[in-house]
Formats: sequence, C-alpha cells, structure tokens
Amino acid sequence: MLRFKSLGSGSSGNCTVVESMGIAPMRVLIDCGLGLKHLSARLGEAGLQPEDIHAVFITHEHGDHIGCARSLSLRYRIPVWMSHGTHAAIGAPDFDGLLHTARDGKAIDLGGMQITPFTVPHDAREPLQLTCTDGSAKLGILTDLGHATAHVMEHLTACDALLLECNHDTDMLAQSSYPPFLKRRVGGQYGHLSNTAAADIARAVIHGGLKHFVAAHLSAQNNRPALVQELMAEALSCGAHDIVVARPDAGTPWLHI
Ligand SMILES: [Zn+2]
Ligand SMILES: [Zn+2]
Repeated sequence: MLRFKSLGSGSSGNCTVVESMGIAPMRVLIDCGLGLKHLSARLGEAGLQPEDIHAVFITHEHGDHIGCARSLSLRYRIPVWMSHGTHAAIGAPDFDGLLHTARDGKAIDLGGMQITPFTVPHDAREPLQLTCTDGSAKLGILTDLGHATAHVMEHLTACDALLLECNHDTDMLAQSSYPPFLKRRVGGQYGHLSNTAAADIARAVIHGGLKHFVAAHLSAQNNRPALVQELMAEALSCGAHDIVVARPDAGTPWLHI
C-alpha cells in the first residue's frame, strides 16, 4: 500500500511526499520546490519531519521544483536523484556523495518502493517525471509537461492514482496580461499542460482501478480550481468533488492507494 500527499503545488513551489506503508516505511520527496523552513513546516502538517525522509527525487531544474533540495540533502544526509542534465543545469554543485543519477526508463530501487523516471517534453535540460510503486499500487506523477507523447502514455498505463498537471485554461491564458513570449512558452509544446490536454490524458488512462486523480500545478492567473474539477470529472465520469486539486499553500490531504 502507498500513500501520498502534495505539500504544495503551483508556480510558487512543488513538493509531494510518497510513503510505502509497511513495517519499515520508505518515504520519498518528489521535488523540493520550497524553502527549507516552509518545507519543514509542511512536513510537520503531514505528521513528519525532515529526518523521516529517506530519499529525494528532483524532476528538473526549475526553481519551483529544485528549491531547497541541496540544503535539505546536506543537512539531513538524504540521498538525491536527478538527471545528469538537471545537475548540469544547476551548475553541477557538490552533494558530498549523496547525488545519484536518474535516467529515462532506469528503475530506482529504494527498498520497499521503486521509482521509474521517464523523459518528458518540457523546456528544461533533461526533465524526468515518474511513476512509483511498492509492487502492487502504482502512482503516476507529472507536474510539468508540454504535451503527451507515446512514451509518456506508455508509462502511465495501469496507474492506481495520478497526480497530473492541469496548468491553464487556453482562453484564460490567451486573454491574460502575460507578454506574448510567455503565452507562447506556457502554451507551447515544451511548456505546460492545458486543462483540455490534461483531460485527454485522463480519458486515455482511465481504468477501473484508478482510485485518485489529483489536479496539480494550476496557474494562479490562468485557471480556476472549479473549472478543472468540472472538466476532469467529465473526462473521468465522476463527481467534481472526486477530483482533488493540489493547492499552492496546502497541497492535498494524504491519499491512500
Ligand atoms: Zn518546469
Ligand atoms: Zn513547475
């Protein structure tokens, strides 16, 4: 059995804790896009402290994902996984022996939990998103995705829970005060997923075993939680309140799979 909790999601910072539940639980943080003080506080709200985290996986170098990864790792001696490109993009800092290289398709065995990273189209050096499993439950996490590729969809088959970017409403983005270059970047093939593109992914991966759908990385300016819930509920043939929206400052409750 796995449980997971977003500690916050959006352009202000992304961080999700995943725990394999058993006699010796394994806990991993997916991204660390908060300051160390905030991260400690959010972990406290989840009933955890930094010492309870066994591993950190960083998806890519953008500030809302990498955040305090290095200071957390060094202070609490927590091993960190990221791609070679992500490490290079942040200036290849020293992790004092705690850094491990993550690669597309190469499973990371953490003991009690396995992470499988996969390449995604996003405007970073070597971005990876991932699935986690304890051997029975499977969780997919995709917070930054320009568009769905066949490779991405292959990795998302048979997920019991999915945390997926629902970044923007296309019309709200078009009418926003963003400068044209930013509109092109966000809405482009290597930017962020629109609500309708996320709904297409949801429709493609839905199956009887999908227990939770979490809408993540919503744009504060160009989206509304109620709109996302309505669209995703329609795509997944469920009620709007069955769609959990990860909030920037509060994330989600613990969800069990
Ligand atoms: Zn990003
Ligand atoms: Zn992001």
